[in-house]
Amino acid sequence: MNIHEYQTKRIFSRYKIPVPAGHVAHSDAQAVAVAESLGGERWIVKAQVHAGGRGKCGGVKLCNSLAEVKEFADKLIGSDLVTPQTGPGGKRVRRVLVEDAQDIKQELYLGCLIDRVTQRITVIASAVGGMDIEEVAASTPEKIIKESVDPAVGLQDFQCRKIAAGIGLTGKQIINAATLMKRLYRAFRDTDALMAEINPLSLLADDSLMALDGKMNFDGNALFRRADITDLRDFDEEDSKELDASQHDLNYIALDGDVGCIVNGAGLAMATMDAISFYGGKPANFLDVGGGASPDKIANAFRIVLTDSNVKAVLLNIFAGINRCDWIAQGVVQTLREQSVDVPVVVRLAGTNVEKGWEILFSSGLEFIHADKLDDASRKAVEAARGSA
Ligand code: GDP
Ligand code: MN
Repeated sequence: MNIHEYQTKRIFSRYKIPVPAGHVAHSDAQAVAVAESLGGERWIVKAQVHAGGRGKCGGVKLCNSLAEVKEFADKLIGSDLVTPQTGPGGKRVRRVLVEDAQDIKQELYLGCLIDRVTQRITVIASAVGGMDIEEVAASTPEKIIKESVDPAVGLQDFQCRKIAAGIGLTGKQIINAATLMKRLYRAFRDTDALMAEINPLSLLADDSLMALDGKMNFDGNALFRRADITDLRDFDEEDSKELDASQHDLNYIALDGDVGCIVNGAGLAMATMDAISFYGGKPANFLDVGGGASPDKIANAFRIVLTDSNVKAVLLNIFAGINRCDWIAQGVVQTLREQSVDVPVVVRLAGTNVEKGWEILFSSGLEFIHADKLDDASRKAVEAARGSA
């Protein structure tokens, strides 16, 4: 789960990581009020969307007057910001962060993430932070410093000093940086984060360090024990189909193919996607309906899959263990009667109550394509999608 920059900075503050004074605003008038209350003469106004790359695409601006703050906030709020990370449609800006502008001496990079190879938290740093960090990582990886943290003892002082020296800091800066790294590590660990990033981590005129940007991403499987983090979820930023699915206890991931998939079990769903690809097709989604799916749940699964206008055929592939084929079949019948399904539907049923399931489907008189095995079903679904495209 992702959160906004202003929310990340609130978490940083809680862990005493220095951030600029600032506040979120939902309108241009509010942005001006925030700037006024901050005082000073220069402010940074930043679009709050779940995507980076804003600085290069008009989502961040240094403003030298309240009039400029008003003008820029007005322009941003309600607009769709397109960055390399948003996709071509962009992301709707619903709020901005207004902050005290800082004088930057140097832009560094500092981040923590879970390294799946070592199965440890890794601290990553670079002397060349800022808006070109992706380019730096790709073309000069030697400029990126990494330190793996032993979970039994946590991030050690010597590791922090090593990282700080490695990114060219000296004297007092090293002590500042080491303290900040340990705080970031703690914030990361205490919130079940998957990623915490400060880019730029800025060295200011007085040699102090400040997080001018902040990004955190959390493990969705740990949210049940992180109510304070769950509260930060912004549903506006999420794929509406995926959200709809999660509210109906369905695991749905949107993809870009044209064969809609409704399957039980993550393993079978993956195998079904592989089989579709094997026959030259492309899955439109991953969808696991889980065990014991009721007819209503199947109907919801169809509804969600069919809101994707790229879908040219639907493959329902059920290997019923905990599930019951008769319930699934009732769900299909309910769907075909109540929803306008204008693409071919391929059904493959196996397992518990399979005879009853087919009986319900065949006696309904509704139109569907019968399939016997995974192989047969996938081939028929790919052909059906081609035929109706
Ligand atoms: P991103 O492009 O989405 O990662 O947005 P950032 O929050 O990183 O902002 C982009 C750039 O704006 C940073 O790399 C800085 O160069 C600049 N910036 C952000 N805050 C300040 C500030 O307080 N003062 C100055 N001078 N520049 C800033
Ligand atoms: Mn940034």
